[in-house]
Amino acid sequence: MIEIIEEQNNKVVPEIQVLPSPLEPLRSISWNYWWSWSRDGAGCFRELGPAIWEECEHNPRLLLSRVSEYRLAEMANDPVYCERVAKLASDFDEYMGLRQSWSNHGNAAGLSPEHPVAYFCAEFGVHNSLALYSGGLGILAGDHLKSASDLRLPLVAVGLLYHQGYFRQRLNREGWQQEVYRETDPEILPLHTVTGEDGSRLLIEVLIRDRAVRAQVWRAEVGRVALYLLDTNIAENAETDRWVTGHLYGGDRETRIVQEMLLGIGGVRLLRRLNIEPHVYHLNEGHSAFLTLELARETMHSRGLSFAETMPLVRERCVFTTHTPVAAGNDEFAVDLVERSFGSTYEQQLGLSHQEFLGLGRLDPKDASESFGLTPLALRLCRSTNGVSRKHGEVSRALWQKLWPEKTVNEVPITHVTNGVHAPTWVAPTIRALYEKHVGQDWANKLRQRADWEQGVARLSDEELWAAHLLLKQRLVAFVRERSFQARVDRGEAVEYAEAARSMFDTNALTIGFARRVAGYKRWSLLLNDTERLLKIIDNAERPVQFVFAGKAHPQDSEAKMILQEVARWKRDERLKDRAVFIDDYDQEVARQLVQSVDVWLNVPRRPLEASGTSGEKVAMNGGLNLSVLDGWWLEGYDGSNGFAIGSGVESSNDVDASDAESLYRTLEQDVVPLYYDRDGEGLPRKWIWMMKRSITTLGPEFNSDRMVAEYARRIYS
Ligand SMILES: *Cc1c(COP(=O)(O)O)cnc(C)c1O
Repeated sequence: MIEIIEEQNNKVVPEIQVLPSPLEPLRSISWNYWWSWSRDGAGCFRELGPAIWEECEHNPRLLLSRVSEYRLAEMANDPVYCERVAKLASDFDEYMGLRQSWSNHGNAAGLSPEHPVAYFCAEFGVHNSLALYSGGLGILAGDHLKSASDLRLPLVAVGLLYHQGYFRQRLNREGWQQEVYRETDPEILPLHTVTGEDGSRLLIEVLIRDRAVRAQVWRAEVGRVALYLLDTNIAENAETDRWVTGHLYGGDRETRIVQEMLLGIGGVRLLRRLNIEPHVYHLNEGHSAFLTLELARETMHSRGLSFAETMPLVRERCVFTTHTPVAAGNDEFAVDLVERSFGSTYEQQLGLSHQEFLGLGRLDPKDASESFGLTPLALRLCRSTNGVSRKHGEVSRALWQKLWPEKTVNEVPITHVTNGVHAPTWVAPTIRALYEKHVGQDWANKLRQRADWEQGVARLSDEELWAAHLLLKQRLVAFVRERSFQARVDRGEAVEYAEAARSMFDTNALTIGFARRVAGYKRWSLLLNDTERLLKIIDNAERPVQFVFAGKAHPQDSEAKMILQEVARWKRDERLKDRAVFIDDYDQEVARQLVQSVDVWLNVPRRPLEASGTSGEKVAMNGGLNLSVLDGWWLEGYDGSNGFAIGSGVESSNDVDASDAESLYRTLEQDVVPLYYDRDGEGLPRKWIWMMKRSITTLGPEFNSDRMVAEYARRIYS
């Protein structure tokens, strides 16, 4: 049974008051997500009203509408604050104004502001206040846009505006997950209504289920990148169609296919209306694969070609990134569903017979027993396909070989670009300040120049790094206490139990983070495989260990919810002495708190199902150490001295779960815990800090999204 609580949202439309002139620049800055990764953007907004800032979930437009007139006047009379705002404003102008183009950086022939990359994705995790993501894929897309902006790569992005986004999670007193949906209100977000040439609201139309479905369009500014969002929740549509952009991954198969039609077909039509002629279309995961059909339809009609003649022209313009390591993904549709959603008009316009049309989505076009898959469609109609780590490239070649029967697995034309994360978004302010001091103000650029980066980081003293890390851990402890207390009160727990949250956790204890989607292959249960042994590790007076957990289960996945319930029960064990905590509602903000502050980040996926993983990359940039199964990015990153490995990295045929669990416990007992508590006369864990620096110097330059986007530009886009 799915329990859903609909939460009322008190709609407030920000009538932004007049800002005193020294603060006026904050208005335009609040309209561009650039503030969220700039040096002092969050700081300047928070300063205006820390409590309101938390209340409105770091949405600066809302903040500016709620801060009192008196507070604004007070801050406008604070010269130090005004100086900060002026600096932020000049940084913003400089960032937006630099006319230096990507081509000056070389290599991406053909890309220009008139012919940009069109980046399509079903979810975007740009910032927590714009809740259009569920997890890794969306965060990756958000980081991609930010790096494209930083690198001045011409790129526009296309997605959907979900009115209820992804669910928020609460565990009830029984430890059972409940889903809460909250309205995404464009009025209070920095979203511009996109208008047509005549100044009226632009409407895009797509024929879905034999009805013309219309979508209005919003534009978010992500630095220099425009993110366009299609939205069907308008009066012009039938009630059912208004729900096309209702929930992200919340609905059934039918909702999914109609969303994907809107994204792919509607997205291409939108770019046409904006007179944008992309140099290349990037399909980030198969959700947007229908765009290839729309490009074909368009080209056939404008140039009078047949579908077969058009295919090479479409392929020339499209590139595809696959993210799934298994063939049976979410993106397959039963034939009758495809028929119901598309009707017969579309295949007629493509000049295809019904079977030819369906064949485009099949590994074997003639096999009528196959359903319609978006990955086969994308593989067929894109000139380039890549996985998201070296290992995932290999896995994908084997997985999709059937489409190239004349080739051996090694010859299958699927390459890889390993995922990375956006450093200015994920590095904690205190650590960032150290990088600025020792590497330079342009530390984020130096990150890609290994020698400069290593030299700079070498200047960081053990004492400085450790002090900064302890400050972050203090913040984490306070965060854990605050969130746990609030959650216990909200669940109606006994007063003593709620109060106990205020003294849980310890800044000096070895802190291990484990936060990820609760899905089978992530193997949450591996950790609880031998709870007695785990208790011994945790419950040690001299060398205490504490765990912080977070993660959502898919609303329809009861098995995953049962795992969560097990964790919730286990952490109530008296002997744990409050050294294990589950933080509700894992999102970008919770992720930030965790990845910036933990000593160790644990990851135990079943090989080779972690296509890449990115959360551990965020941890490494902040000096945390990874303790992970050798899969995805960690297989490339681990060098024996920059973190810890679980298992050997080769798939063994007997019980992998048991041997990985054994390896995990052994590594904790014999390596991780002793090393962390090995202190010198000043109380510093010198060897541990040495490893932190190894983690920063060796992993930073590889696993950041500037490297990733530059690699896409050089190898995939041009
Ligand atoms: C980074 C991130 C992820 C992706 O992390 P994985 O390593 O793939 O688990 C998922 N969710 C959030 C909120 C993140 O910030």
